[in-house]
Amino acid sequence: MHVDNIIKGVIKSNKRHLAKAITLVESKSLSKREDADKLLNSILPYTGNSIRLGISGVPGVGKSTFIESFGKFLTSIGKKVAVLAVDPSSKISGGSILGDKTRMQELAKDHAAFIRPSPSDESLGGVARKTRESMLICESAGYDIIIVETVGVGQSEIEVASMVDCFTLLQLPGAGDELQGIKKGIMEISDIILINKAEGENIHKAQLAKSQIENALHILKARDDNWMVKVLLVSALNNEGVERFWEVLLHFITHMKNGNFFRLKRKKQSVDWMWKLLDEELMRIFKSDERIKEMLVSTEEEVRAGHINPASAAKTLLDVFLKKK
Ligand code: GDP
Repeated sequence: MHVDNIIKGVIKSNKRHLAKAITLVESKSLSKREDADKLLNSILPYTGNSIRLGISGVPGVGKSTFIESFGKFLTSIGKKVAVLAVDPSSKISGGSILGDKTRMQELAKDHAAFIRPSPSDESLGGVARKTRESMLICESAGYDIIIVETVGVGQSEIEVASMVDCFTLLQLPGAGDELQGIKKGIMEISDIILINKAEGENIHKAQLAKSQIENALHILKARDDNWMVKVLLVSALNNEGVERFWEVLLHFITHMKNGNFFRLKRKKQSVDWMWKLLDEELMRIFKSDERIKEMLVSTEEEVRAGHINPASAAKTLLDVFLKKK
């Protein structure tokens, strides 16, 4: 399909065209790059109007159950929702923690929902890169809420937090041990924390976890945007707490917009993104330079053996690279 047709279809919110557009930006082939750039530039004026929501948590915490429940709630109030997944495990293990195929089957049937499984053969940076672009494409297709889901592996949460308006962390009920499981830095980037499976005999444990997390949050330094992180109890399985989450999410967005933090955050994310792309592209050019390719293996070997120090090796490589051919 010609890229101009894909662009037209995306803007008309045609799901088939939307899927094709995402496949195009995911393509690794250099020949597709021009088309992908054209697509991204053409849709840019139509982006910016969605709520971008990141959802993270360990495998089994209930992310897909929650997203299905929340997604169905959103479509029931007339919103369109897109779900994108960042799954760092697919590269590492060859399998997928997010197990795309069987998930969110109900939501997938919904006309107002679009679910895109994660690309399976990319590095994390690559996955996140395509996800950011896919997010913009969904936005231009008129989706009101874009959910980017990831598991708590490696850098994936940080990557996702840096592309969304609101980062939400799912936790399990229970205190102590589970709390220890919260990776350093994750609380700091979370705007809303949900304790899932808070039903039946879990309620007491969930309340305990809530107060422990709230105490831990008090110790953190105050945020620049003055938002007080909210901790909510939910039961994704019973569709409980989902509407409350939506209210809190809207409250957060209003808070951010009123304080002008919303635009600032998006602007900062765009500039950071530009730098990240530049870093990647420069590194790609550097590593594909013939002179560098010739030297790289032996230089690494010399550094490993302790014959040259890393700083001199880096300088030598850079000197060679910068010397005019
Ligand atoms: P994910 O790996 O984070 O996506 O977790 P899943 O959504 O696949 O859920 C893992 C398991 O927890 C499944 O067996 C779900 O049925 C179950 N689960 C999810 N949410 C709840 C909940 O609110 N209460 C209970 N009791 N079980 C839940």
